[in-house]
Amino acid sequence: MKRYHVTTFGCQMNQHDSERMKGMLESLGYAEAGAPAEADLILFNTCSIREKADERFVAHLEQAKGLKRADPQRIIGVGGCWAQSVKEDVFRRFPYVDVAFGPGQVHKLAEFLTSDSLTAQGFFEFGGFTGHLPAKRARDLQGWVQISVGCNMNCSYCIVPSTRGREVSRPLVELVAEVERMAADGVREVTLLGQNVNAYGRDLRPQRTSFAELLGALDGISGLDRVRYTSPHPKDMREDVVLAHVQLPTVCEHVHLPLQAGSSRILKAMRRTYTRERYLDRVALIREHVPDAALTTDVIVGFPGESEEDFVQTLGVCEEVGFDGAFTFIYSPRRGTEAATFTEGLVPHEVAVERMERLVEVVQRRARQRAQRFVGRELEVLVEGPSRTDPARLRGRTRHNKVVNFDGVAAPGDLVGVTIVAATSQTLTGEMSLVAAAAAR
Ligand code: SF4
Repeated sequence: MKRYHVTTFGCQMNQHDSERMKGMLESLGYAEAGAPAEADLILFNTCSIREKADERFVAHLEQAKGLKRADPQRIIGVGGCWAQSVKEDVFRRFPYVDVAFGPGQVHKLAEFLTSDSLTAQGFFEFGGFTGHLPAKRARDLQGWVQISVGCNMNCSYCIVPSTRGREVSRPLVELVAEVERMAADGVREVTLLGQNVNAYGRDLRPQRTSFAELLGALDGISGLDRVRYTSPHPKDMREDVVLAHVQLPTVCEHVHLPLQAGSSRILKAMRRTYTRERYLDRVALIREHVPDAALTTDVIVGFPGESEEDFVQTLGVCEEVGFDGAFTFIYSPRRGTEAATFTEGLVPHEVAVERMERLVEVVQRRARQRAQRFVGRELEVLVEGPSRTDPARLRGRTRHNKVVNFDGVAAPGDLVGVTIVAATSQTLTGEMSLVAAAAAR
């Protein structure tokens, strides 16, 4: 039996796509290898968001080159956004690569593997959802659902529109059927994935639909306890979606709402299409209807043109909102993006690092303060397995997407009540109280 190994870089969409690659390969009779050195087929699912990911990927590719030298029959494949962004150039730069494909062409990998072709091939058309391929899920209880591909926005720092194409939504009935199958297979929690999830359905013909309608259609699927989604765009965060968090029992009390910058001037340069005020207005809407919702975000510091005053505005939004968590990044230019051509107001690296330190202080302090609201409450926790820090305890996740380490006896997949006794910015600690919510729901 032939064996494969997949190394995944980047976002949750890539993790999803890798699960589909694995599912497709297993349907072709391949088995997963524990390490690239044991594999006949070495695959990389690449990311193009940050230079760092490129550097890491090239180091891995060099190792694969050595393995191929030892066994020339080995096949090396490169998929994902980075492959899409360089296209055929991948074969010039890395002549030992056998097959390369963009995110819309994962299915072509099967065609390549089952053909007699001995020449390197690249597949870079847009089209095709990896969500149509069989999946090999990393976790039995939780699953990704790709609801759309591509993005119609033009954020000046982002390569996605050129690597994943225009936005295309999958039909609602198809998604409902997929989640029904997953729930029947034991999945308790799904995360809906798209570059801009809440733009879902506008391109569907003959009948347009909306993201809120999709949430409504998934709620009530037997066996499904939780629905999450990532990432929504603040400009499309409408009241019907916010109300879904109140009205639909499966939709979790967590919204990841990317801020990116708190200065309207910088948001404009980023082409984010909302202002600081509009963002805060969306936060107010969420807090009005779902006061307990966890809010998380993404922030970029050191974008070209960001002055100290602009940065202080970003700090101000983080202070005012009090996010439950944030992914923070120092801006780095991506070739092929508009922002990479900006030459004015470049922020020196040491200034960006200093701003990042100040940002992290605010984010962590506010997250720690926010987390104290959970202390003394009994929260519904989906058990994932033993705690990573102390195997004698259990680990699970609340509906707010907080990790909880707790004492108790339960099996992965159980929904239990845990009384929270302590909270840091990142994790909660608790004691299992009742074998709760599952039975009640
Ligand atoms: S919304 Fe902006 S950052 Fe997000 S994928 Fe689309 S272009 Fe990129």
